[in-house]
Amino acid sequence: MTEPRGGLQIVERRAVADAVGERDVPAHTPCLYLDPGVAVERYERLRAAFADTDSYYAVKANPEPRLIRRLVRAGAFFDVASPAEIALCLAEGADPSRLSYGNTVKKASDIRYAYRSGVRLFVFDSQDELLKLAEHAPGSAVFCRLLASSAGAQWPLSGKFGCTPEMAVDLLTQAPRLGLRPVGVSFHVGSQQLDPGRWEPSVATAAWVSGELAAAGIELTMLNVGGGFPVEYTSPVPPIERYAEAITAAVGRHFDTRPRLATEPGRYVAAVAGVLRTEVVLVSRKTFDDDTRWVYLDVGRFGGLAETEGEAIRYRLVTPHDGGPDGAVVLAGPTCDSVDILYQRAAYRLPLALRQGDTVDILAAGAYTTTYASVGFNGFPPLPTVCIGDDE
Ligand SMILES: *Cc1c(COP(=O)(O)O)cnc(C)c1O
Repeated sequence: MTEPRGGLQIVERRAVADAVGERDVPAHTPCLYLDPGVAVERYERLRAAFADTDSYYAVKANPEPRLIRRLVRAGAFFDVASPAEIALCLAEGADPSRLSYGNTVKKASDIRYAYRSGVRLFVFDSQDELLKLAEHAPGSAVFCRLLASSAGAQWPLSGKFGCTPEMAVDLLTQAPRLGLRPVGVSFHVGSQQLDPGRWEPSVATAAWVSGELAAAGIELTMLNVGGGFPVEYTSPVPPIERYAEAITAAVGRHFDTRPRLATEPGRYVAAVAGVLRTEVVLVSRKTFDDDTRWVYLDVGRFGGLAETEGEAIRYRLVTPHDGGPDGAVVLAGPTCDSVDILYQRAAYRLPLALRQGDTVDILAAGAYTTTYASVGFNGFPPLPTVCIGDDE
């Protein structure tokens, strides 16, 4: 498939931005405009790229119920991390057999809740979690998360999750004796992973684990390659098809018998479906002749833009004055905490005509925003969602 790099993503993002542009400015900003139909298209594009793969939407990326309902109707699987996410998926019509409890850190009571709800697929990455599953989710299918490097990812996840391959072999070997069904391994190479080649080392490790288990008479049938598929924010990224090819080829190289693949996309599905509409609260300078303006928006690190920490995720901004002369800015949020700065080193430029009251749209903001908003720091309410686009 030949397409300009990230081409479809740009089109989708513009489509959402245009749809927002046609609306009246809401009485209140900030507000996330979300088009669930766009997210479903993204899910379907990923599913088409990875043939014969079960794709579990990582609910934490955006748990908007109307989005979940649309994904249920599209036949999606879901990666859930808590009782509330389970309840949400079931309430929107998902069958519990489509849910994977993908959090390696679960309370016993939460495991029991999941089990009572019919969930029968659980992850673990430690001895104690395996024992908890044996006690509270007897007979369930389990998979072991491996440590994986996040090198190349703009939002790393390494270190906190997963165990060594040797430990994975040991724990998966114990599972049948504990009354559990070991089905495979998983890993996550870090979110917004820009290099499709970064899956291969973990695929190789997973193949080694599967080989050791096979030697012990246990056949693992599933390989869960996690999420991490990137979105075009301010720089182009390889298309999803490139990731699918690289991962499928790596599996072919390292496994004798191809396992059933699973993915867990979050950002890739939800991000471009959302535009975060904000308003400029203040444009200021620290001295009268300063070239750099400070632009304070009505949303910041505490209002949903948590992923600007370390200036890791660099969103694209659209203003009513785009195309006119611009200048250097520092972008900041509205709260009284000095860490509430979005971009200082990232060298953002915005139009010189920008004034308080102007709208600033933050593109591809549908993932990891509404749920990262604080409940009321400084009295600012959590970020609301307005769904746009076709209802069905
Ligand atoms: C957050 C998460 C994902 C989604 O990651 P993306 O980078 O958003 O695709 C997938 N799997 C697990 C276990 C996660 O915690």
